Amino acid sequence: GFKMGIVGLPNVGKSTLFNALTKTAAAQAANFPFCTIEPNVGDVAVPDARLDTLAEIAGSKQIIPTRMTFVDIAGLVKGASKGEGLGNQFLANIRECDAIAHVLRCFEDDDITHVEGRVDPVADAQVIETELMLADLESIEKRRANLVRKLKGNDKEAQQQDRLLAAAQEVLENGQPARTVEVSGEDMKQWKMLQLLTQKPILYVCNVEESSASDGNSKSAEVAKMAEEQGAGTVVISAKIEEEISQLDAEEAEMFLGEMGLEEAGLDRLIRAGYELLKLETYFTVGPKEARAWTIKAGTSAPQAAGVIHGDFEKGFIRAETIAYVDYVEFKGEGGAKEAGKMRAEGKAYIVKDGDVMHFLFNN
Ligand code: GDP
Repeated sequence: GFKMGIVGLPNVGKSTLFNALTKTAAAQAANFPFCTIEPNVGDVAVPDARLDTLAEIAGSKQIIPTRMTFVDIAGLVKGASKGEGLGNQFLANIRECDAIAHVLRCFEDDDITHVEGRVDPVADAQVIETELMLADLESIEKRRANLVRKLKGNDKEAQQQDRLLAAAQEVLENGQPARTVEVSGEDMKQWKMLQLLTQKPILYVCNVEESSASDGNSKSAEVAKMAEEQGAGTVVISAKIEEEISQLDAEEAEMFLGEMGLEEAGLDRLIRAGYELLKLETYFTVGPKEARAWTIKAGTSAPQAAGVIHGDFEKGFIRAETIAYVDYVEFKGEGGAKEAGKMRAEGKAYIVKDGDVMHFLFNN
């Protein structure tokens, strides 16, 4: 599954948000109750109304949403990369994530201490980014030193690694994150394996006061501008509202959202922004037993998509019977879609589209 690490300065609302996201009725939907893997790891259901529609049409007994993992990564403060250095566990936590959700305090509240003594989310973002850049520089120096012997031995892979590490080092020394390095297609695989902290895509989560939850405030607007310049994502959330929603059942939550002038809960917006940032899509498998959603990267081929379900599906892939979501709904299910000529037989080269209803045929 895909993993989103929640980082931010102390007292910006990370834990409040994390607890709310992982406790909401939506997050706990269906047969997988929210499971705490560790106190700070939450595995949540990805809300998707299409899945309910499909299940209703097919009369599926079970609805199984796809999942996304959130990790509450506390411990980032100014100077964290100096002295003892960032803890190994802490770094490993970030490394394992596919993206970083960076929570920024955009609310004023004199009762809640700000570690820097002022509310300035853009400056806060830079404080954290700087720590991550320093940690990357330290790790690059160590890794390049370790490569020296292999480089003397003319090891091709070591040469490639060193060249990419050097490129990252150069931008970092100029105060830019590693994600600004332009990497060619041939280098991409090795580049991703470097697992630098500032390579990860960033989603800025603006934690605003309750009254600004629907439109944001001047601080979140500054963040949005910065995010756009960086090619990062932004989402406006009120952790306080999310905390309240997490206490309600689905129906009550919807009413409450309406009262607040919000169309969807923060969890939905956060996950959707995460999907966009990571270029993720969803496909479905639907039958009388279960209707299930699966997460893939955009551009995934049919066999790779089948591999998300089971490795054998990918290895023995023959073809996929495919119905677009809209056709499945319009023609009221597989039978109707088939009659209308909307069920396609797709081969190995087919690129799965968001919302496809798939049935894989494979050899084992
Ligand atoms: P963390 O250190 O980033 O995990 O921050 P917490 O989630 O523990 O929040 C720190 C304090 O700020 C707590 O007392 C929260 O109740 C409060 N807080 C969090 N979000 C908001 C918010 O949106 N508005 C206000 N006024 N207080 C908040």
